[in-house]
Amino acid sequence: MVIDSHCHLYDRRFADLRETLRLSLTHDVWGAVAVGCDAETNARTLAAAAAAPKAVWACLGFHPDWTRLTDDDLDRVEAQIAAHHSRIVGIGEIGLPWYSLEGAPDAAAIMARGRAAADALQALRHHRIERAVFHWHKATAEVTHAIVDAGYFVSVTPDVVYRERDREMVAGVPLDALLVESDGPWQYGGEFEGTESGPWLASRVAEEVAKLKQLPLDDMMFQLSTNTCRLFDLVWV
Ligand SMILES: [Zn+2]
Repeated sequence: MVIDSHCHLYDRRFADLRETLRLSLTHDVWGAVAVGCDAETNARTLAAAAAAPKAVWACLGFHPDWTRLTDDDLDRVEAQIAAHHSRIVGIGEIGLPWYSLEGAPDAAAIMARGRAAADALQALRHHRIERAVFHWHKATAEVTHAIVDAGYFVSVTPDVVYRERDREMVAGVPLDALLVESDGPWQYGGEFEGTESGPWLASRVAEEVAKLKQLPLDDMMFQLSTNTCRLFDLVWV
């Protein structure tokens, strides 16, 4: 069993949360860290975590690519984080340059993918953020090494099944710094073309990582689940 470390469960495609989680379980995925992108999606993310507290863990975020968001929206999200701090396991999805990390020094941050990864690393260090994952990580090998050396995680999506860049990244990163994610409902190519995206894809990602690292799948899933629990301080159930 494995955990999807990053999924947009607020999306209407996951409106039937029970069915989403049931389908995920049939694929050996026992839960998901759910991220939000603005005040509205954050509220829906909190509702999902409240509805399934043993399988959904909430992060509240402010998406760096949602350019329609304003400073007022950011204020609302910061107030939301303060109000719900005890109910969330992290801040995300966030990314440079929009978000001040100062408000949540004890929470794990999730950085939006790739772009400006080196700057993001610098910001994390500057604000002394202890736990963070660079989600859907894309960066040079040098920057990736610096991220891992600083004690942060990187995560891979189903892209790892068919993209050489992601496969090389996994090969070069120590196992205890890796997470897997679906980033559902993001649609993937390759063997996933035309199939529904959701937390259930995380086990296929784990399977591919196991192949690349030449480890038995059960061992790999255990390690990946342990990593996710360590990052988000989840209670292993
Ligand atoms: Zn995402």
